[in-house]
Amino acid sequence: MPELPEVEALRDFLQDHLVGREFVRVLPLAVSVLKTYDPPPSALEGRRVAAVRRHGKFLDVATADEGPRLVTHLARAGWLQWRDSVPAAPPRPGKGPLALRAVLDHGQGFDLTEAGTQKRLAVYVVQDPAEVPGIARLGPDPLAVDFDEARFTALLAGERRQLKGALRDQSLIAGVGNAYSDEILHAARMSPFKLTGSLTPEETHRLYEALRSTLTEAVERSRGVAAGRLKAEKRSGLRVHGRTGQPCPVCGDTVREVSFADSSLQYCPTCQTGGRPLADRRLSRLLK
Ligand SMILES: [Zn+2]
Repeated sequence: MPELPEVEALRDFLQDHLVGREFVRVLPLAVSVLKTYDPPPSALEGRRVAAVRRHGKFLDVATADEGPRLVTHLARAGWLQWRDSVPAAPPRPGKGPLALRAVLDHGQGFDLTEAGTQKRLAVYVVQDPAEVPGIARLGPDPLAVDFDEARFTALLAGERRQLKGALRDQSLIAGVGNAYSDEILHAARMSPFKLTGSLTPEETHRLYEALRSTLTEAVERSRGVAAGRLKAEKRSGLRVHGRTGQPCPVCGDTVREVSFADSSLQYCPTCQTGGRPLADRRLSRLLK
C-alpha cells in the first residue's frame, strides 16, 4: 500500500506532469470506483490543472479558477500509471485492473489501476477536498513544518492504546500505514504493543525523532524515482516490515511477525522487546 512517502513522490511526479495541462476525458471504468455523483467526472473535462496536493494518503488534483478537483485514495493495491500516449481505442469497463483513465491534451494521460479482487481504490470529484470524509477526519501531517515535538506529545497524551494502532490511525496522524509504523517503531526501539500513555518524555522524544527521520528519509529516497519503480524502492528501504525470518540490519536477530488488527506486524525482538518474542494474541486465543 502506498503510504505518505510514496504518495508524496507521486504528488511530486504529478505536479511536474499535470500542472498547466487540460483534462480531455475522465473515464471511471471500475464498478463503484467513483464515490461522488455531483459534479460528474465530465465537469473536469476542458479544465486546466492548477496544483497537485497531498492530504495524508490522498492525492488531490485541483483545477484552475476554483474548478472541481479529482481526489483519489489508492488503497491497498492501487497504483497510478503515467501514459505518454493513451491508446486510441476506448477501454472496456469492468475488465482487469483499470479503475479510471484520465486523458489529457497532447494525447498523454494516466490510469489508476488496482490489482486483486478486493476493490477499494476510491475517486471523488469535489469542489472542496474537505467534502471527502476520509480527508475531513485526518489528523495533522507529520512532515508539516508546525508538527513539532510539543504537538506530537499533546496528541499522544490524550490516548491510551498500543503504539502500533495509534501511529497508523489516520485521524491521529495522517499518512502512516502498516509498513512505516513498523519501521518507525523499529527505529525508536519500542515494542508495538507499548501503550501511548506509558511513554516517558525521553521515549516520546525518541519516537518523535524516529517518526520524522523515517518518513523524511523515505520521501528523499522516493523523490525522483519513476512512478513504476516506487513500490520496489519502498520495499528495498524497509528494515523490518515484510521481512519476517530475515536478519535485522541493525543487530542481526531474526525479524519476527505477530498478528495485529486486520493484518500482521513485523519487529525485531532484540531491538524492540528486550529479546522476548511477542505473544500472538490471535493464535493464543485459538488455542484456549
Ligand atoms: Zn534488531
